[in-house]
Amino acid sequence: MLLGAIADDLTGATDLALTLSREGMRTVQVVGVPDQNLNLGGADAVVIALKSRTIPAEDAVNQSVSAARYLLEHGAQQLFFKYCSTFDSTTDGNIGPVADALLDLLGTKIAFVCPAFPTNGRTVYNGHLFVGQSLLSESPMKDHPLTPMRDPNLLRVLQSQSTSKIGLVPFTSVEAGETSIRYAAEGLAKEGVRLAVVDAISDRHLRAIGHAASEMKLVTGGSGVALGLPDNFRRSGKLADTTISLFAPPAGRGVMFAGSCSAATRRQTSAAIAAGTPTLKVDPFEISTGKVSANDVVSWVRALPSHQIPLIYSSADPAEVQSAQEQLGRERAGTIIEMFLGQVARELRNEGFDRFVVAGGETSGAVVHALGVEAIAIGPEIDPGVPWTVSIDQGTPVALALKSGNFGADDFFAKAWRSI
Ligand code: ADP
Repeated sequence: MLLGAIADDLTGATDLALTLSREGMRTVQVVGVPDQNLNLGGADAVVIALKSRTIPAEDAVNQSVSAARYLLEHGAQQLFFKYCSTFDSTTDGNIGPVADALLDLLGTKIAFVCPAFPTNGRTVYNGHLFVGQSLLSESPMKDHPLTPMRDPNLLRVLQSQSTSKIGLVPFTSVEAGETSIRYAAEGLAKEGVRLAVVDAISDRHLRAIGHAASEMKLVTGGSGVALGLPDNFRRSGKLADTTISLFAPPAGRGVMFAGSCSAATRRQTSAAIAAGTPTLKVDPFEISTGKVSANDVVSWVRALPSHQIPLIYSSADPAEVQSAQEQLGRERAGTIIEMFLGQVARELRNEGFDRFVVAGGETSGAVVHALGVEAIAIGPEIDPGVPWTVSIDQGTPVALALKSGNFGADDFFAKAWRSI
């Protein structure tokens, strides 16, 4: 293993695994810290997907450190800590505390912090995160059900979570390229900065940042900043030029789930309804009172003609989400939906469904957990950051397309089935 990565959610892990495999690394994604018996198949890069974005900071640190230990024990020469390109975090973390703990574990001085993903409209300038043309705090992320982001200044957000000194590698250094970024990072490290936010508004910047990080033991960021990392291993002769695809999907019945309430997923859900997709909306309150059960949903799916691919969704607008959260509590509303969709997925799996599309990071985590999938290989890309994947563990294979809520074009759900 050359590169070991820890991702704070499942769709983020997939997004990163896609970037690494596209850049020529044989990449395996595992769900949770694997036991020692998992066969990594000689992977160049291993991405461990945690579900640690919104859990208590101490638990996120413990899980991330044990993932890091596993990766280091299996030969990782560099670690990557992957979080969302919209820097999704709670008031207590978990990006800052996890980055601090990984720096301590590795005994290293400084790491980059760069969530930029220009292909999906996330850019960092003067330490401020933009989503499209809006500041993060004016984007739909301000209303996220679990991690509302109301401050676009990454240095301030990170400083509120971390005990490390925070600094900035400014745009002028990034624009000047790899050497100048290295020089800026060295200067910051001399001042005692441990976490250096790096400006970036294009893939060219991300590649330069990745190359500048070749000697760093830890890099943190969105999947974008990993663009230049595989090339570092190739330059040093450690990575071969050829890759083998591990993707061989099953071809049974398909079903789609959407638990994300992001603006993009709501547009995609509307587009699917408009296109005549059979859809069923589930509501956390109705689930909590027993008005609707997983069995009801499974029966509804069973009654459909087998060529139709249904969408089961809980996606709701901010007002509906707020009302559900007032009745049930923020976390409970989320958990109710996640457990419910997971249960439906498991029951459909038992009925022979083996192709699943899931919208929402936490939701994907819940579905994959319910299906008992332990490791996946990356297949074709549907939209930027969202590939088809296939399980490669002991169980019979399932194909999974796991989409971070805000990703994908409006016709994502239709596109997914055209690309497999
Ligand atoms: P994203 O990728 O957009 O962040 P996630 O699945 O990670 O999507 O998070 C969405 C969260 O919102 C999940 O915890 C989900 O269970 C919760 N949720 C989904 N639908 C509703 C709803 N109608 N009311 C309240 N919470 C909801």
